[in-house]
Parts: sequence; C-alpha cells; structure tokens
Amino acid sequence: MEITNGIHLVDGTNANVYIVLGDNLTVIDTGMPGQLNKILDYVKSIGKNPSDISKIVLTHCHMDHMGNAYELKKITNAKLYVHEKDAPYVTGKEKLPSPKGFTGAAMKVASTFMKMNYVEPDVLLKEGDTVDDFVVIHNPGHTPGSISLYSKERKVIFVGDELRYIDELQGPPEQFTPDMALAIKSMEKLTKIEYDIMLSGHGVPLRPDASKKVKEFYKTLIS
Ligand SMILES: [Zn+2]
Ligand SMILES: [Zn+2]
Repeated sequence: MEITNGIHLVDGTNANVYIVLGDNLTVIDTGMPGQLNKILDYVKSIGKNPSDISKIVLTHCHMDHMGNAYELKKITNAKLYVHEKDAPYVTGKEKLPSPKGFTGAAMKVASTFMKMNYVEPDVLLKEGDTVDDFVVIHNPGHTPGSISLYSKERKVIFVGDELRYIDELQGPPEQFTPDMALAIKSMEKLTKIEYDIMLSGHGVPLRPDASKKVKEFYKTLIS
C-alpha cells in the first residue's frame, strides 16, 4: 500500500519492507528469508520492474530485515547500503550475541531450518551520510549499526527496530537488544527533529505528529 506520496509498504514480509519511488526505486529492509516474491510482485503491481531497484538499504543486520538482501541484490544488481558497524554481521564475518533467555534457544532451532544468505554491502554508511533525500542517523544499541533514515522535506523517518508502533509506541524488543541503555540514549536524537510519519520495522505507520508522540514516549522512558 502507498503510505504517503512515493513511499510504499509491501504487505506481509515481516519485518516491514518499504519502497521509495524516485528516478529509480530504493528498498528499505528486505523482510524475513523466503519473502522475495512478495517484494517482486509488489514492485510489478505498481507498474515498475525489479530492475528499477537501484538501492537496498538495511536499517540493521537482523535476519528479519536482511532476509532477502542477497537474492534481491543478485536479481536487480542494486547497491546494498548498510551502516559500517553492522557490516561484519551482514557479511557473516562476525556473529551477533544470541538473544537473551529461552528465545535464544528457540532462535537457534529456527535458524537451522531457515536458510539465510549473507551478503557483501557496496556502501558503508555513517552518521550524516545521505541516501536519496534521506539522512542517516546512527542509533546503536539494538545492534551496533542500527540506523534511522530521515527526510526533513517529506517529514518522514524510517526507524528500523529502534522504535515500533504496535498498538502503542514501543522501544526496541528487549530480548533482541543487547544494549538497551544505549538504544534509549540513541533515541534522544529522534526527539530533536520534526516528522509527521514514523515508519518502523514492525507494526504500522505512526502518524500524524509522530515526532511529538516520540518525544512524549521518550520522556516516559527516562523519567
Ligand atoms: Zn532488529
Ligand atoms: Zn525486526
């Protein structure tokens, strides 16, 4: 569905996959492994070709966000963008610590059944870089290289898992966030800018007045 002028959400890929329309297409996050066809079908449904995809940006290295990056890049020849601190996990050179508690064991079982290809990024991002008209904001904590992508003109921000809007505004999921204190500290940056629509990796768009709501939520976290 089209969320706002030129920004689409592909349904049912868990995590969310967004497509930004410009001269070419930019895909933000790629969903769980095995969802490639949903992305390709969506692109065709809006009258575009998979070969129109020129950029793939990952908000972070988790499986539900990078799940189809390898296949999508292979099919489209798009350039893959990821923050430099998450690059070693995207390539598989380093492994993230296992999630806390029982979920960790469950994840290990799940990952033996769920095949995911690691992939080599083309562009390593850092704070202040731009992709199209979006500025990179580094939000470490959920992963070392988690990012948000912010467009002042569009009044839109993509936040990955740093914030989620599922029934209510939430921070990153505790069991998958090795450094929660740092993630909350990172969130402060997102309270200093203005945006109308917040697009997270899970849940639905938060709008209108998203930045106002994030500011209020952040206050409750640090009080
Ligand atoms: Zn995540
Ligand atoms: Zn996620």
